[in-house]
Amino acid sequence: MDYPKSFYEHIAQTSDDPMGLMIRRAEGPFIYTDDGKRYVDFISGIAVSSLGHCHPNVVQAVKDQVERHMHVMVYGEYIQKPQSELAELLTSQVPSNLDRVYFVNSGTEANEGALKLAKKYTGKHKFISFHNSYHGDTHGSLSVTGRDVYRDPYQPLLPDVYFLSFNDDSELHKIDEETAAVIMEPIQGEGGIIPADTDWLQKVRKRCNDTGTLLIFDEVQTGFGRTGTLFAFQQYNVVPDIMSLAKALGGGMPIGAFLSSSKIFETFKYDPPLNHVTTFGGHPVSCAAAYAALKTLLDDDLMKNAITIENTARSILKGKGIVEVRGKGAMLGLQLRDFELTRKVVKACLDEGIILGWTLHSNTLIRIAPPLIIDHDLLKDVLNKIKATILLYA
Ligand code: PMP
Repeated sequence: MDYPKSFYEHIAQTSDDPMGLMIRRAEGPFIYTDDGKRYVDFISGIAVSSLGHCHPNVVQAVKDQVERHMHVMVYGEYIQKPQSELAELLTSQVPSNLDRVYFVNSGTEANEGALKLAKKYTGKHKFISFHNSYHGDTHGSLSVTGRDVYRDPYQPLLPDVYFLSFNDDSELHKIDEETAAVIMEPIQGEGGIIPADTDWLQKVRKRCNDTGTLLIFDEVQTGFGRTGTLFAFQQYNVVPDIMSLAKALGGGMPIGAFLSSSKIFETFKYDPPLNHVTTFGGHPVSCAAAYAALKTLLDDDLMKNAITIENTARSILKGKGIVEVRGKGAMLGLQLRDFELTRKVVKACLDEGIILGWTLHSNTLIRIAPPLIIDHDLLKDVLNKIKATILLYA
């Protein structure tokens, strides 16, 4: 089998320029390719592999569950231990108004569910989102994604969606009694790693309270220790009504979830019953993996590594060509002077065995998002190589 050829000829492509690394295996912070090269995965498969690749606890949990059972029934009918255990552990880590979990398969599905839940619970259909946000590529999530260039080819999308400027007080009055929900990332990821200001986020929460609007936090990218706390909202003293999760949740397996209160979730049970169901949501193998991943993250206190990663990156990444380092924990953006420099640095680092990338909405920003388990010497070594490469081209 000529598998590079089948990739190019038979797999639907998403651009003319795929990275095209031929993956053989991955372990810890490393990805190994067929030509024998070793790469440091400095983007964690885009904020997924926080525990590194193939963490032994996750691999064991998957093996054990595969031998017990795989899919047995659509989500929500049978009692499956891996789902229940995961829901219990997850809800034990968040405020008591997020006491229920609906499991899905991905981030965009989590947001679809969150939007539908808000609509049905409030009986309203207006949504507020923010410019430069990213919430996924299915129709509902795309409707609330704040970048015209991605939305325009698919219009008409959901009506009654309005975009406000992030971190801007002056537009908050547009959240009104007609609004079902505000959906937002506490730190915009694809928009260019832009943290919300604390006092602004608290004003958003207050405005939602005053107008009977639900607040949805999309923590798909910020979740599971990446920003230094289990969830980013924990650094803001603001609690959402609904929270969507995916990416690192599964420790490398596909799973998403949205959490809310028992009271709000009641609405999914009636008028009609079964009005929001999924076949594979909460797949037992993914749930077992997610349980092992979360348990490991908590037991090994890996969140604190995110802070070390941030401090180390901020101390090394300075100098010519670098505009700023922004973000929190191990969700950082390295803002460079221009696209040409960014392109050259990303390409040269790849040749050096370092996987970097820019964010979807910003091509002058390099993502710094290594696995939280990365060894400190390796971290410093990679950061120094990135800096040297920037200096070379700046
Ligand atoms: N929300 C955010 C904040 C994301 O970063 C992403 C993925 N980049 C998504 C939603 C969509 O997740 P998925 O690709 O799993 O559908």
